[in-house]
Amino acid sequence: MKNTDILIIGGGASGLAAAIEAKRTDSNKSVTVLEHLPKVGKKILATGNGRCNLGNLGAANHAYTNMRFASYAIGKYGTDSLVEFFESTGLYARADSEGRLYPMSNSAASVLDALRFECENLGVLFCCEEKATEIKKCTDGFTVNGAYKAKNVIIATGGKAAPSQGSDGSGYPLLKSLGHKITALAPSLVQIKTDTAKIKSLKGVRAKASLTLSTGGKSEGEILFTDYGVSGIAAMDLSRFVKPDTKAEISIDLLPEFTQDKVKEIIIQIANHNPAVSAEQMLGGIVHKAIGTAAIKSALGFLPKTAGEIKPKQAAIIAAELKDFRLKLTGTKSFNDAQVTKGGADVSEFDSQTMMSKKHSGLFACGEVLDVDGACGGFNLAWAFASGRLAGKNAAKH
Ligand SMILES: Cc1cc2nc3c(=O)[nH]c(=O)nc-3n(C[C@H](O)[C@H](O)[C@H](O)COP(=O)(O)OP(=O)(O)OC[C@H]3O[C@@H](n4cnc5c(N)ncnc54)[C@H](O)[C@@H]3O)c2cc1C
Repeated sequence: MKNTDILIIGGGASGLAAAIEAKRTDSNKSVTVLEHLPKVGKKILATGNGRCNLGNLGAANHAYTNMRFASYAIGKYGTDSLVEFFESTGLYARADSEGRLYPMSNSAASVLDALRFECENLGVLFCCEEKATEIKKCTDGFTVNGAYKAKNVIIATGGKAAPSQGSDGSGYPLLKSLGHKITALAPSLVQIKTDTAKIKSLKGVRAKASLTLSTGGKSEGEILFTDYGVSGIAAMDLSRFVKPDTKAEISIDLLPEFTQDKVKEIIIQIANHNPAVSAEQMLGGIVHKAIGTAAIKSALGFLPKTAGEIKPKQAAIIAAELKDFRLKLTGTKSFNDAQVTKGGADVSEFDSQTMMSKKHSGLFACGEVLDVDGACGGFNLAWAFASGRLAGKNAAKH
């Protein structure tokens, strides 16, 4: 049996942050990270399209799922603290115009290197290609796989999203076996599937839009029409609100800058100014031509030949369509395509100020395995780092 003071299961963003904070809190405590992939931190390399959006200036005010629980960690280890944490390892970050933090190197690999090298500097032991499949309580701590014994165990296994990056959902049974409740799990920050009849001609077309889900939830930003539905940051953000097996519609406002009356006015102006232009071309000055054509067809049920054929009443219907382009929701893409898991270990069973289980002294959880998730923009890594550090610090003090 290998003994260690703190055993961290999962060498991802939260697990590596936990390891660093534990060692910095008490360098005499031995810290071991179990990682079932050949190397730690594989997912970090894939984040932010290879640039790693590691935090967000607005994290403290973000509407995380279970924000009341998350707010202590996010407050204690907020953006300034996150930036200092990375600067202390030699990694500097800057925010873009939307408050998203990226490493100055623009490289996710540099974020993983900073975490990995700091762990190595501090004497954290990595045990890779070791999958935790069993955890048991014993006197004065826990045993894992019957091979490791630790007074404190931190579950940092992530969720079920992007299993090819290591997070295969195998942390949930570990927590369940110790009596913890796991809430319903669903893919989040994932592409949305819709009825495609209306958008067949729009595959590959991008737009800036505001989205509203009929069952509640809004988002705005870029969307990308695809052959299965809608992708892009705004669609991914809206997926946080999709309830599986519930009938819903998405209303897409394709001209969020304008009121419906203004859009009608513009259409009438175009029709009067250039009546000979084809209906297919006529809206090319305000939306992508293909979107204009699809909206006219959907609104009127046919495509007039020229702009001049469009009467003011029809302009009003087209304007309404552009402001409320509806698609029937049929679901989302799967965990394989998702960036985050919605749901997880029930946070009411953990202490928000320490991340320790209320059921088992010495058992901690952090990151995505807990039922906390946020939107695109660095909020999920901000949570992983903050909750990981909080768990690591308290495990070292326990
Ligand atoms: C493609 C992609 C891009 C993303 N981009 C961003 C972004 O730019 N900004 C952002 O904020 N968020 C982003 N996210 C989300 C973010 O990466 C996660 O929310 C975050 O990594 C969660 O951290 P974690 O430590 O909880 O879990 P993970 O990072 O998933 O780490 C869990 C680790 O545990 C290991 N593990 C799992 N089970 C076991 C086991 N039983 N035994 C041993 N090891 C185990 C896994 O192999 C993995 O290394 C992205 C996600 C994806 C998939």
